[in-house]
Amino acid sequence: MNIVRVALDLPLPRLFDYLAPDSDESDIGRRVTVPFGTASRTGVIVAVAAASEQPHAKLKAVSAILRDMPPLPAEWLALCEFCARYYQTPLGEVTSFALPPMLRRGKLPRLKQPAEIAASPAPTPEIPRLMAAQQSAVKTILAATSFQTMLLHGVTGSGKTEVYLRAIDAVLARGGQALMLVPEIALTPQLEGRVASRFPTAHIVCGNSGMADAARARGFIEALSGRAEIVLGTRLAVFMPMPRLQLIIVDEEHDASFKQQEGLRYSARDVAIWRAHQLNIPIVLGSATPSLETFHHASTGRYAMLELPERAVAEAMPVVRIVDTRREKLQEGLSAALLAGLQQRLERGEQSLVFLNRRGYAPVLACPPCGWISRCTRCAANLVLHLADQRLRCHHCGFEARVPRACPDCGNVDLLPFGRGTQRLETMLAERFPDARVLRIDRDSASTPKKWQALLAAIHAGEADILVGTQMLAKGHDFPLLTLVGAVGADAALFAADFRAPERLFAQLMQVGGRSGRAALPGEVLIQTEYPDHPLYQALVDHDYLRFARNQLDERRIAGFPPFSFQAMLRAEARDMAQSLAFLAAARSVAEALADGVTLYDPIPMRLQRLMTLERGQLLVESGSRPALQAFLAAWMEKLYALKMPAGLRWHLDVDPLEF
Ligand code: ADP
Ligand code: ZN
Ligand code: ZN
Repeated sequence: MNIVRVALDLPLPRLFDYLAPDSDESDIGRRVTVPFGTASRTGVIVAVAAASEQPHAKLKAVSAILRDMPPLPAEWLALCEFCARYYQTPLGEVTSFALPPMLRRGKLPRLKQPAEIAASPAPTPEIPRLMAAQQSAVKTILAATSFQTMLLHGVTGSGKTEVYLRAIDAVLARGGQALMLVPEIALTPQLEGRVASRFPTAHIVCGNSGMADAARARGFIEALSGRAEIVLGTRLAVFMPMPRLQLIIVDEEHDASFKQQEGLRYSARDVAIWRAHQLNIPIVLGSATPSLETFHHASTGRYAMLELPERAVAEAMPVVRIVDTRREKLQEGLSAALLAGLQQRLERGEQSLVFLNRRGYAPVLACPPCGWISRCTRCAANLVLHLADQRLRCHHCGFEARVPRACPDCGNVDLLPFGRGTQRLETMLAERFPDARVLRIDRDSASTPKKWQALLAAIHAGEADILVGTQMLAKGHDFPLLTLVGAVGADAALFAADFRAPERLFAQLMQVGGRSGRAALPGEVLIQTEYPDHPLYQALVDHDYLRFARNQLDERRIAGFPPFSFQAMLRAEARDMAQSLAFLAAARSVAEALADGVTLYDPIPMRLQRLMTLERGQLLVESGSRPALQAFLAAWMEKLYALKMPAGLRWHLDVDPLEF
């Protein structure tokens, strides 16, 4: 008698057995619909067995095994099983997450017949001659025929993408498939265009969460059937089944968007490395500012280090200057040096960018006489003033309200915006430079992909003189007319509570600086700061990532932070903080008996204590050994599932957390 073991999307760390008389081994990896309670559910068959631990009388029969597409390969199931184990998440939740929603629901998209796939006219792509460093990187990548993690370290414009394209070319020539992961920003279309024009006859599939249901499911099946040769996508694409996968590339590997912050809290970069290991294939991690974890592995020899020390096109790196603002009276936050730089670019018909990583007009609206400030009623956070549409908005929960005419507490009509966001800078710059065309680029002005594309097109067409933007602008775009970048308000990140804040700041400033001077015109970067001697800024002046990275690693070693330790965070949220902290305290006390070689910290409120009316606490656990931490977490989870919880309390575990 045949039993199928089914992974169902339920928050329970177990599989579910069903009777399936007509099933056999070839059904492993197929989707199946089963009765569950009074409803019907679709799951994935992960094993077939002759017997079940459940009493036979209790077993129900499957409704249908879906044999309408090839089964998910063993490698894909193994990948999901690894994620379930490593991130302490029920397997059914992982498989359900990894499948496109349409397939998850047991449906199938209409598949295009090969004849319908328009054969694009194939212009011969222009292929540049590789520079020596690129040449040697490509050679090393192509020589790797088994598992090897390689860090391709090169500044923006050093020709990393060109190296990826060469490596992909070789994989296609061998009849393999290549997977390229990129950060979650509206960058994919540009890159897709570049890849498509380089490989006009290849079948390329995109994978990201913003895609329409049917398109995503179709791409998944095309990858699974082996028809797609190149898969290009965001973190989600790491779960694309690819039977002939021979190479994985993770571009901008340091980017935080590779880590998912809800549900399955996985790092697509780390999962990709595991996948490459399991398949015994090479993986290339590319970045101008590698994450310190990756850099550490590359400098200890665990990863191979491939360096591209020079830019491929522009002669030189932009000149980085520090503007000491300690003794200067700034004008709306801008120094005389930056204002002069902007003026000069206007006169020369070049573009400038003022980088401020804070959107809105001002971070808070206040009533000085009585002390009222705009607070979110649901979160422990201020409401941000958005003057463009006269709203107060919470950037954490999305709550919004009209800007009040008078103070809600005392009736005073002179409310004052405090601090500065991109909208305020935009207004100020427009007043100060009345002839300049000022364009703001942030998540408000680029709220849809269409608006974002239109903004990019305007910049490229030279229809803007001064750009005001957040980190949205920092990545991957070539702006040939841009010759000046001014960074304001960067100091805040120097002393942030999160030990990764300096690493992020360095990467951001390096990236945003890399936007300038990418064509024939030389670039200049001005960083306004009250800490002109800070080693982080000094390393930027010298374009010295290595010095910065070694510095940071020394600090982390002393403090025992990653990559010198491994961490996991248990978070709980409830109606009030006492409940959250009590749950975490209980979790901590059941952990004590299990914590061999693992440090348990005290439960504390999260930095953003209240979100969406829920009060949140966290408990950090840490170990010098990943296996010790993993063994502990597995044992701990069992106890956690058994803990009594007050109604309404929710908890989750975040392995290798990025946010503190
Ligand atoms: P990265 O990915 O490191 O930012 P790219 O591969 O996008 O760099 O290269 C930057 C620019 O330089 C692109 O316009 C690219 O076409 C060009 N380029 C790259 N390699 C070469 C080369 N060997 N010779 C000439 N131009 C190159
Ligand atoms: Zn809120
Ligand atoms: Zn007041």
